[in-house]
Amino acid sequence: MASCLFCGLIKKQQPNTIVSNDAVVALLDKRPSVAGQIIVLTRNHYPLLSQIPDRELAELLGSVKKISQAMLRTYDVAGTTVLGRVGVEAGQIVPHASLVVMPRYEGDGVGLDVPVPASAGCNLCQMEGVSEEFGDADTLCFQLEGFAGLGVATRAHYPILEAVPDQMLEPLGRTLKEAIQLMLSNWNASAVTVLLHNGIPAGQRMPHAVFWLIAREKNDGRFSLPERAVGEEDTGRIVSAMREALVGMGGPVGVETMQSAQVSNEVSDYLLEKLKRVP
Ligand SMILES: [Zn+2]
Ligand SMILES: [Zn+2]
Repeated sequence: MASCLFCGLIKKQQPNTIVSNDAVVALLDKRPSVAGQIIVLTRNHYPLLSQIPDRELAELLGSVKKISQAMLRTYDVAGTTVLGRVGVEAGQIVPHASLVVMPRYEGDGVGLDVPVPASAGCNLCQMEGVSEEFGDADTLCFQLEGFAGLGVATRAHYPILEAVPDQMLEPLGRTLKEAIQLMLSNWNASAVTVLLHNGIPAGQRMPHAVFWLIAREKNDGRFSLPERAVGEEDTGRIVSAMREALVGMGGPVGVETMQSAQVSNEVSDYLLEKLKRVP
């Protein structure tokens, strides 16, 4: 799309490119709320997250997962947050679907809390206060008592996104799209905010990787992010550190060739250790 800002950035390779492959382009955000924040885009133009074809969404989620891992390995972070803005009322400014991955620090004041009741055990696996909306063999969309939105997750228990196997990403993405569509068509939502927090300091309340969906009627400023400029020097430093981390993670991950490679158990263990504050 000629007039799309993101399509323009994708076409002309930017110095702040972290990942670039057939399906996905990830750019270091030049006006982030937290330094090191990365915008992950499909190479093809789709206005909304819920319009991305299954295969490309799986690639997008695979890149998000890898970038989140790389952040956990590269920055001294306490967790990560994945934010999706579907529609203008959810704060989507550019009509090209994207997910934002944010490094999170203790007391960073980012304020993207999802009002899910905190639980020590896994409510979802115990099906406590959980009612399933729909799902398939591997994933489900559910409502949780005390939370006015929807959750989308794998049926199997994975504490954080990094632990979710790659082959689960396509069904997970498909269920996520259907859940967004359900909110837009049956819930009278004009937009949807999607949030996944990895780690308690990032705002994770349930020890199971869940995409939480919040229906938005108007842009009331909730979940909006303050912008902060980052110096050129910092940008260069972060870009090379992230690229290095992605390459160092093993598998075909490079700026030109990054694929959603299998995460080794070693990486998963490392991340789980790092985020062991999740109950
Ligand atoms: Zn576009
Ligand atoms: Zn669970």
